[in-house]
Amino acid sequence: MPRPDRLVWRSDLGWPSSSPAAYANPRSGLVIHYDSSNQNLANRPHSACVDYWNWCRDFHVNGNGWADVGYSWMACAHGYVMEGRGLYRAQAAQPGGNTTYYSCTLACGPSDEITGAQIEAVRQLRSWLMEPDTSISGTVKGHRDFNSTSCPGDAAYRLVSNGTFRQQPSGLTPTEEDNDVPTYVSIEKTDNSRKEELQSGEWHQVYFDANNSGGADNHHGDGDYPSLVKGAADYTGYVSLRLTDVPKGVECQARMVEVHNDGESWVVVERDAPVEFEGTNGDTFVTIPAAGFVNDDRRLRVEVVHYADQDVTPRVIAGKVRLQVWER
Ligand SMILES: [Zn+2]
Ligand SMILES: [Zn+2]
Repeated sequence: MPRPDRLVWRSDLGWPSSSPAAYANPRSGLVIHYDSSNQNLANRPHSACVDYWNWCRDFHVNGNGWADVGYSWMACAHGYVMEGRGLYRAQAAQPGGNTTYYSCTLACGPSDEITGAQIEAVRQLRSWLMEPDTSISGTVKGHRDFNSTSCPGDAAYRLVSNGTFRQQPSGLTPTEEDNDVPTYVSIEKTDNSRKEELQSGEWHQVYFDANNSGGADNHHGDGDYPSLVKGAADYTGYVSLRLTDVPKGVECQARMVEVHNDGESWVVVERDAPVEFEGTNGDTFVTIPAAGFVNDDRRLRVEVVHYADQDVTPRVIAGKVRLQVWER
């Protein structure tokens, strides 16, 4: 079994490409988990699963103080296998089996639908992990086999017990809506782009000049332009910027904005809450999380401002955009 059909790596989500969790070589099988609250992801676009997975990681790292999201994988209602800690990592998922089993959450609550695509995703994950490299046993368990918990819920546990997850994968059928498959928009600001000169207290939109993915061509255009996503589209990911000549300690902000063409020019009509950051010695870096929906007559852009009292002109000298986009 090759990799699961719809495998999404951490790096596709803008996470560091390998998990900081400790090394392990789980060989005993796969453990299924759920969320104790209903999420209704089966009836929402896949972008909601990406949001959920980002939220889950944030909750586990910043809420629980763990090294990373607790699970090895998530298998979503749309048939995606999303990497969590991934291969060869200890988990914070099923005490007693955190280094001997891999873990996979369905991200479902107690009465959420478990879809056929999701079952297929678990089967594909299991078959892939049984290949020689990782060579896990074919065993599939539920979290409650290890600890006193309701997890993975009665519905999923039935599928564990009756062998549904242990069947051979049959192949995913294309989704009814092709737009469940995201377009990757990868754009850079290189030396060939303009270097925005930032006046204190004035928001400046940032231009990007190089498309790194085919998907970017439909959204950004070929040249030094500020638009990143063309509506209508759901999107999730981040933008990072590198500024130079920002005096140490000077307050700066950056935010995602939506622009609308009023007939003559593109004007900002919606603004995300800004990310605040400060000038540092040397170049200053900021990463702006981006997630939401852009209407069909709008574009997504990023802008930045500083509030220096001194007579300085910081410049934006580099940047990158990494977004998953679902055209609507
Ligand atoms: Zn669990
Ligand atoms: Zn999904």
